[in-house]
Amino acid sequence: MIPMVDLKRQYHILKSEIDAAIGDVLEQAQFILGPNVTRLEEEIAAYHGLPYAIGVANGTDALLLALRACGVGPGDEVITTPFTFIATAEVIALLNAIPVFVDICPNTFNIDCKQIADKITKKTKAIIPVHLFGHPANMDPIMKIAEKYNLKVIEDCAQAFGAIYNGRKVGTIGDVGCFSFFPSKNLAGYGDGGMVITKSAEIATQIKILRNHGSSVRYYHQAVGYNSRLDEIQAAIIRIKLKYIDQFNATRRENAAAYCNAINRNDVVLPSVASGCEHVYHQFTIRAKNRDQLAKALADKGIASAVYYPVPLHMQEIFVKMYNLSLKLPHSENCAQEVLSLPMFPELNKEEIELIADVINHAS
Ligand SMILES: *Cc1c(COP(=O)(O)O)cnc(C)c1O
Repeated sequence: MIPMVDLKRQYHILKSEIDAAIGDVLEQAQFILGPNVTRLEEEIAAYHGLPYAIGVANGTDALLLALRACGVGPGDEVITTPFTFIATAEVIALLNAIPVFVDICPNTFNIDCKQIADKITKKTKAIIPVHLFGHPANMDPIMKIAEKYNLKVIEDCAQAFGAIYNGRKVGTIGDVGCFSFFPSKNLAGYGDGGMVITKSAEIATQIKILRNHGSSVRYYHQAVGYNSRLDEIQAAIIRIKLKYIDQFNATRRENAAAYCNAINRNDVVLPSVASGCEHVYHQFTIRAKNRDQLAKALADKGIASAVYYPVPLHMQEIFVKMYNLSLKLPHSENCAQEVLSLPMFPELNKEEIELIADVINHAS
């Protein structure tokens, strides 16, 4: 059996450190906005070379609070990709703003920056590029458009902690970077968690207020906010994993290279990396017309695989109904038919990668 991700292997490697850190939290007994949350915020800000990082309850809230702090509200349009997890656009809908979907580049699975300008209207307020699967979106042209039309840029970095675009870490290029620490992400806790990073003091202050019931002084409320704080135990766990994140990401890249070496079918498209980008392979995603047969061949040998994502967001029932959509976004639709993600985690070993590649190479 080879799963998509085996969290137990990493736990067993880090067990003594993690168990001790959890024990310390229980002994200190400061469970809400305690010292580990503060430390993790400082460490993640320092990792990115930015002044502000604010822990929140999950990656979805990171996006939601970031949109609110950027002033996105009812009737505003927000440009994003349809080839992503629902959360990216769900938060737009939750604010009664309108998601405007732009097709992707099939080689990186990320928003096609050349198609953005056409979708800008007087109501456009922001762009949410997603660094899908750990590959940075093409940020330079996106920032140029944002400057020209005075739009906010909120980077969805939920799958891309530590990925690099032209020498800059993702999350540091736009106005705000949003991270998720969901257990399967490349930097993760053992429960829900999220983080917002920004260079803007104003946005940081807003997010701190919004995550804590619209309050900066206890029992005095200046906004209608949320209960969206990062949990202290999760923060303690993530602080340990943060020390190893560059090493984990490097091992993911080695695993990806091993897959690329070992898979040798010309009807399979391997993931590509755009120049100037450092991929962190949150997912290792191939494309194939016979994707379902490959998945079945793998399943027959006890090997997991997954389709991220089978339905692009412009075709999701809820958005079709809410926004009366009849968009055709061919690259997103094709990718939804052809993508297959293979097991990927730092502790995956070379023999397993060889075996998986072998099953793919010999599938009918
Ligand atoms: C996981 C994910 C989110 C949401 O993060 P949660 O912590 O699960 O709320 C948002 N966007 C993308 C692209 C994700 O992969």
